[in-house]
Amino acid sequence: MNRSDIAVIGGGISGLGVAHFGAKAGCTVQIFEQNKQLGGALQTKNKDDFWFELGGHTCYNSYETLIEILNDLDLFRFVQLRKQEPFKIWCDGEFRSIFSQLNKLELLYSLPRSFWTKKKDQTVGSFYGNIVGKNNFTHTLSNIFSAVSSQSADEFPADLLFKKRPRDKKLPRSFTLSDGLQSIAALIVSHSKIEYKTTCEVKNIKHKTEGYTIETNLGETYSSKYLAMATPPPVAAELLRGISPNLTSHLKELRCVNVESIGVAIDAKDLKIKRLSGAIARDEAFYSMVSRDVVPHKQLRGFTFHFATNLLNYDEKIDRIADILGIQQHSIKYIKEATNTLPSFRLGHDKWLARTNQLLNEIDLILTGNYFSGMSIEDCLSRSKQQFFRLFR
Ligand SMILES: Cc1cc2nc3c(=O)[nH]c(=O)nc-3n(C[C@H](O)[C@H](O)[C@H](O)COP(=O)(O)OP(=O)(O)OC[C@H]3O[C@@H](n4cnc5c(N)ncnc54)[C@H](O)[C@@H]3O)c2cc1C
Repeated sequence: MNRSDIAVIGGGISGLGVAHFGAKAGCTVQIFEQNKQLGGALQTKNKDDFWFELGGHTCYNSYETLIEILNDLDLFRFVQLRKQEPFKIWCDGEFRSIFSQLNKLELLYSLPRSFWTKKKDQTVGSFYGNIVGKNNFTHTLSNIFSAVSSQSADEFPADLLFKKRPRDKKLPRSFTLSDGLQSIAALIVSHSKIEYKTTCEVKNIKHKTEGYTIETNLGETYSSKYLAMATPPPVAAELLRGISPNLTSHLKELRCVNVESIGVAIDAKDLKIKRLSGAIARDEAFYSMVSRDVVPHKQLRGFTFHFATNLLNYDEKIDRIADILGIQQHSIKYIKEATNTLPSFRLGHDKWLARTNQLLNEIDLILTGNYFSGMSIEDCLSRSKQQFFRLFR
């Protein structure tokens, strides 16, 4: 399809969300994705019947827009419960319970403040430091928040974390899909109105009265009536340069961080560590580790470690992983790696967002991604839905 109603740049969950709501409304949609596969930060790596996640791994029954899509596509049969396993902290050379690392007196003294402390205009550091105690926060809990956001808890706005949303009690509290989260990409694009091109990087976009022209690295040109930008902010800023210079300079104000993830699959019989859902780390080169133990497999176990960029080289990371898991490297059956870009939110992000939406009023463009009101899968999808209906009221 060389002409579509909506061209979507970026085949991560945000772009897929626009495609879904577009197709549902009867529009033809063309997705352009530079990677070999759709999914973006949803990256399920599999061999035979075993898979693990390098990126997004958990959905909750409060993810209203995701649940709407699962319902639209009749996908509830793929919903896979994530078993409850303990979440630990890696410190002093072992996995320990997070509670064991807290000063109970300080916690008891500080917790009542949770009744009157407000999140608005507070950073994660100032808000949670107040309700669990400064030492507890600095020593232990700051590692959780840095692990969630891959960035400093001293800057991250508290109201962007752990939002209260109504839960759909028919679904498990936390879940994945039976073939991993990336499998949702193929299910969404199976709609007859949606076409997609992978290994196809969009290089240039032009805006004329009749719509948009899209030029790709393959030397092809496409056209569409509407455009949805669903790439990380630095790419959106560059591609929108000729369309809205104001939006370009505004998008450049947003900082981003890269997270380097390495996942390993290991024969369960070679591992001594007890089952766990994941861990945060104190004084380590990695922020956090996520395990596949929540969806047990008969023979293999999987672990993905999320590292800060440029601290360790590849071999050093593998050495560190083997050391932490207490295994010889030959026990590792296979290794996968990925780098993802995440937004680095700062206090005042709400004002940045208000200005973004104001700039969008001047142009018929869908701008979506994980850098608006949060970075979770649900934040991406609700933004995509809201942006689609902004243009297609
Ligand atoms: C390690 C990690 C763990 C996470 N865990 C969870 C979790 O458990 N639960 C949860 O809710 N959220 C989680 N998240 C957050 C969530 O997964 C991401 O925020 C979300 O998937 C991002 O989706 P997106 O479509 O906005 O961006 P992306 O997934 O980054 O997609 C953007 C896409 O645009 C493509 N692209 C870029 N430039 C071009 C171009 N010029 N032409 C064509 N294509 C282009 C990219 O290749 C990419 O595929 C996690 C994120 C990470 C990184």
